[in-house]
Amino acid sequence: MPELRRRTEISMLETARHFFDRAAEKLGLEEAMVALLRYPKRKLIVTFPVRMDDGRVLHFEGYRVQHHPVLGPTKGGIRYHPEVTLDEVQALAVLMAWKCSLMGLPFGGAKGGVRCNPKEMSEGELERLTRRYAAEIAPLIGQDVDIPAPDVYTGEREMAWIVDTISMHNNAQFMPGLVTGKPKVLGGSEGRDTATGRGGFFVALQLLEHLDVPVEGATAAVQGFGNAGSVFAVNFHRAGGKVIAVSDSKGGIYNPQGLDPEAVLQHKRETGSVVGFPGADSVSNEELLELECDLLVPAALENVLHEGNAPNVKAKAIVELANGPTTLKADAIFHERGIPVAPDILANAGGVTVSYFEWVQDRAFYFWSAEEVDRKLKQFMDRAFRKVWHRSREEKVDLRMASYMVAIERVAEAARARGLYA
Ligand code: NAD
Repeated sequence: MPELRRRTEISMLETARHFFDRAAEKLGLEEAMVALLRYPKRKLIVTFPVRMDDGRVLHFEGYRVQHHPVLGPTKGGIRYHPEVTLDEVQALAVLMAWKCSLMGLPFGGAKGGVRCNPKEMSEGELERLTRRYAAEIAPLIGQDVDIPAPDVYTGEREMAWIVDTISMHNNAQFMPGLVTGKPKVLGGSEGRDTATGRGGFFVALQLLEHLDVPVEGATAAVQGFGNAGSVFAVNFHRAGGKVIAVSDSKGGIYNPQGLDPEAVLQHKRETGSVVGFPGADSVSNEELLELECDLLVPAALENVLHEGNAPNVKAKAIVELANGPTTLKADAIFHERGIPVAPDILANAGGVTVSYFEWVQDRAFYFWSAEEVDRKLKQFMDRAFRKVWHRSREEKVDLRMASYMVAIERVAEAARARGLYA
């Protein structure tokens, strides 16, 4: 995944806590429960050596944070980035907790990271770093305890190295359920690579239906044409919707008559960008966010919708495929303006949902067809959307607050049922 971050005055950890506090208050959570769930249970910081190709030995810092394993093992990706911090990993672990709970998965939240610059490392260096990091966090992970997955700058390759390393430490026992997002030949699932965009598309269909907007002829503008954004755009187009604009880090393209996302993908494969696609006008990433359309789909960066542009957004609704694309102030503006926002913990939860399917298949050593995975993904996304929609009507709160309430309530209920071992 390329450069995907922007710093703002309020950190992701503070934002996550802000939503937690508001939802906890609305739910009337008891003080002890607030104290339990507000903070992650375990935070591991490791410093470890890696031999570089030129013979030097460098030390790297890595993290693994687990929120709470009350619903089941914790689950969350591992990112490699020069700016990874413990705070960021904590925030992402907490978000994973709410995402897994909202989707009805038997998982708590977790996240990991290593502060490194993978763009400047060779494959051999990355392999040694991954294997050593896996060995360092080995006491905390396991298919019944905490299950990593890919995140920024990690993918199938790193997951395969982790499985191999941990297996080698366990008498060569093959444990595919240890991580998800693996190559299929090692127990990866059908549909994992398209799950986030596909899941977001199912959420968009539900949202349009509940807003009484037919998908045929509905318009969407998609910022970010990577894994999540492009899969969403292709699905939306195939369902009869019009994708009027898409963009990547180099700029955007616009055609009010609708683009063919599969042709745009081909153009991007050939030229490295969507820019210059024949028959489309160019549009900047900022302009794209303010286009007249039914759905605005931020699918690239954090904090792109802020108090400066939120008043100018003309979309009827927003589907957050990216993590954290809306600042707190913009969120309040959309709420005031009555623009529904399908929040990230719902709209991009397709990825972790198919990760859950992968884990289930690995545990059984029995693998499902692409059709079966897709059917189940739709069931899970539709069920979560309906719960959130009803809760938002019942409580007169927006979809984000309703999502947090549904998610936190389920974790709190499980924690209460287990009782406090204090
Ligand atoms: P990706 O790397 O495949 O694609 C990112 C896209 O964003 C690329 O098209 C890139 O060119 C574009 N981009 C980068 N900088 C930009 C800028 N300044 N303006 C506009 N576009 C820019 O990443 P992805 O996997 O599609 O992830 C995108 C978002 O979705 C991230 O926020 C990620 O956290 C979130 N997400 C992804 C998954 C997943 O399974 N892929 C799951 C959950 C959430």
